[in-house]
Amino acid sequence: MMEIEKDMDVEGSHIRCRQRTKESEKVLDYDYKRCKGCTICVAICPEKALSEGPLQEIAKGLDAPPVLIDLDACAFCGMCVNFCPMRAFKMTIEEKADETTEPDKASDGNGTEGKDKVAERDETALGIDRAKAEAAET
Ligand code: SF4
Ligand code: SF4
Repeated sequence: MMEIEKDMDVEGSHIRCRQRTKESEKVLDYDYKRCKGCTICVAICPEKALSEGPLQEIAKGLDAPPVLIDLDACAFCGMCVNFCPMRAFKMTIEEKADETTEPDKASDGNGTEGKDKVAERDETALGIDRAKAEAAET
């Protein structure tokens, strides 16, 4: 069974979640200063890893993240990255060279992520049209 290590750290307004496997290291970076608390990401997260923070208190001036991340539940799927209209979430994926694995096993299947390649995943990488996400918000 594949070993998965996860950790989380905070630097300024950035909350960084990491997932390491033999094949890749994924970093989900949530910059809560960019976040407007629209809760689109909370609604679309397939793992229910996101929840609302103290939105009422934040509206009154509390400095806290509008969205809370459950690191254990997060599958690093990138859906929140693609749907956030404020680009508050970013994901970087580093594929590691491993002779025992198939080249595209850890990729998203679009064939553009090879070994030893760092790719910042954005909406185009997963083929989701940001305009649609923005239209859905309004
Ligand atoms: S979708 Fe973006 S702006 Fe909306 S709550 Fe999530 S992180 Fe914040
Ligand atoms: S990466 Fe996927 S599983 Fe993790 S918080 Fe975002 S939408 Fe949820």
